[in-house]
Amino acid sequence: MTVYNFCAGPAKLPDEVMIKAQSEFRDWNNTGCSVMELSHRSKVYIEVYDQAIQSLKTLLNIGDDYTVLFMHGGGRGQFSAVPLNLLTEKKQAHYGVTGSWSKSAVTEAEKFGAITARDYVNVDTKGQKSVLGFDQWKVNNTVDFLHYCPNETVDGIEIFESPKFEIPVVADMSSTILSRQIELNDYDLIYAGAQKNIGPSGLSIVVVKKELLARSNDSIPSVLNYKLTAENDSMFNTPPTYAIYLAKLVFDWLLERGGVAAQEVLNIEKAKCLYQAIDASDFYSNNISQNNRSRMNVPFFLANDSLDKLFLEQAENNGLLALKGHRIVGGMRASLYNAMPIEGVKTLVEFMQEFERTHA
Ligand code: PMP
Repeated sequence: MTVYNFCAGPAKLPDEVMIKAQSEFRDWNNTGCSVMELSHRSKVYIEVYDQAIQSLKTLLNIGDDYTVLFMHGGGRGQFSAVPLNLLTEKKQAHYGVTGSWSKSAVTEAEKFGAITARDYVNVDTKGQKSVLGFDQWKVNNTVDFLHYCPNETVDGIEIFESPKFEIPVVADMSSTILSRQIELNDYDLIYAGAQKNIGPSGLSIVVVKKELLARSNDSIPSVLNYKLTAENDSMFNTPPTYAIYLAKLVFDWLLERGGVAAQEVLNIEKAKCLYQAIDASDFYSNNISQNNRSRMNVPFFLANDSLDKLFLEQAENNGLLALKGHRIVGGMRASLYNAMPIEGVKTLVEFMQEFERTHA
């Protein structure tokens, strides 16, 4: 039985990447060592690191005015690093709240400055959620930056609109990075924990406009300091070397398949397949408006939630794993990151239809 893992993160990695990593596990490039046993300062490892950066630059079309940082501490580490590095003496920032992760980012940022946070989710009379257009966001142009989360992993809410603001824009792209094309110039800093579309947990990626590095001061804890990290090629302390190697394999896998543009086409098809099945049935529902439905994380509910446990048990027996919704939202959630093949989504839809036939 083929197993499909719909976990929101750590998530499924591409089969081809796992097979390659396995084949190189104990002897990388005839060194007689595993990549994870090599010094991060060795010439052979620095080649891996340089190639990872280069491949990511190609994928995201990163120009010379940005720098790529490989950091520790996951997405939440960046919840601290962003205000620590980007707040100026004013110590003011605006946080757009559209779900649980952007809300958590506020809680952390409030430790470091005066944060104005606003909820931009509209809930209509039928309970459908949508995000207000950026033109309706109340952002004061004197604050140090705006932070928002383009894809709310828990809530299944995605913002596809490009941000156009006069102050630096920071985006938590943990669960959307590399899933669709973006115009990087619309952002001054993007960050992502790796464990969804990039690689294993333990690595976080920051792409930041070089001019913003001047804001980092010496009082910031070193491992969270963007300027120090950039000056040391992300090797001020020992980087998560094996996670960076796996990320490089994932980047190359994406490039071989036509990059982000080709992957986006596939992701649209996968999401459409699942949302259409949900919409076609009264047995299942999703409460996010068409324009803000996440392509990566699809929450859905059974009309009769007393069947949830049985649904999950039978799904698992059919090789469809990790479909339980986040505890805050309940119901189900299927995460359809880049490594999830369309066959996985079709298999899920067939299972859902069969479950409906037998339990409606
Ligand atoms: N932001 C988003 C959008 C996330 O989905 C997550 C994790 N699921 C985080 C931040 C937190 O990441 P971490 O657990 O790596 O700190």
